Amino acid sequence: MAVKSVALVAHDNKKKELVDWVSRNKTRFAQLKLFATGTTGKLLAERLGRDDVVRLLSGPLGGDQQIGAKIAEGEIDVLVFFWDPLEPQPHDPDIKALLRIAALWNIPVACNSATAEFILTSAYMTDDQHQIAKPDFSYYTTRTTPQ
Ligand code: PGA
Repeated sequence: MAVKSVALVAHDNKKKELVDWVSRNKTRFAQLKLFATGTTGKLLAERLGRDDVVRLLSGPLGGDQQIGAKIAEGEIDVLVFFWDPLEPQPHDPDIKALLRIAALWNIPVACNSATAEFILTSAYMTDDQHQIAKPDFSYYTTRTTPQ
């Protein structure tokens, strides 16, 4: 079975909720390759006792953009992003960019634990036959600058 890759990001007020939720679902997560922004990844690695969580930079230092780049390169299958709806963040533009790139590349995104639960328990998570439709970007790759 192809191992699915999940990127996990949580803002400070949402970190406990994310780590608790992942911990409750430890068995399912054991089958998955994990990517995370710096602090979220550190907390996850500690709680899960895993040394294979790919930790990128902290979100405000560019970690959200690194995850966005990995989505564009096809390395991430699912994004779990517990952003904080009650507090502005210094890296708001990066957050918007990450959500945009996830929508653009048509990957499943969970912004709360209810949605994350639906995605994690989906039969598609373990179905190698199921392919998420890749967007058709031929217009962008073939267009030329008007004269
Ligand atoms: P962090 O980054 O995991 O390093 O806290 C998350 C974010 O704030 O986007």
